Amino acid sequence: MFDDRPPDGPVHYRHTNAGERIGVIPATCKAGAHSLARVGYIAQASEAEGVVRISCRACNEDVDVDHFWVLALSGAPPYSVELDDEPYRAMVPLMVDARGRGLPPERWPRAT
Ligand SMILES: [Zn+2]
Repeated sequence: MFDDRPPDGPVHYRHTNAGERIGVIPATCKAGAHSLARVGYIAQASEAEGVVRISCRACNEDVDVDHFWVLALSGAPPYSVELDDEPYRAMVPLMVDARGRGLPPERWPRAT
């Protein structure tokens, strides 16, 4: 379901008055087609890789669609997340063809 593509950008964080750190993740799926709050999503953080992958449940069914964000964590994954597109307006999605074409060459060695 997931691969080891490079992150689209960093996770944004918000701090509450109580000092709690909340992760802010995009409210719209990477394909731009769905509201994640409406269709649902899967957020899977990997501390080992330092990223969180956010998959759209609606796009997840279609293997040809690049359906998940990869965002770089700073420090431990936050305990709670909020959906907000605002911090991500400037982020350019790194669209990858799910069948492998379009991956950076160093990650996709050609057969000789
Ligand atoms: Zn979607």
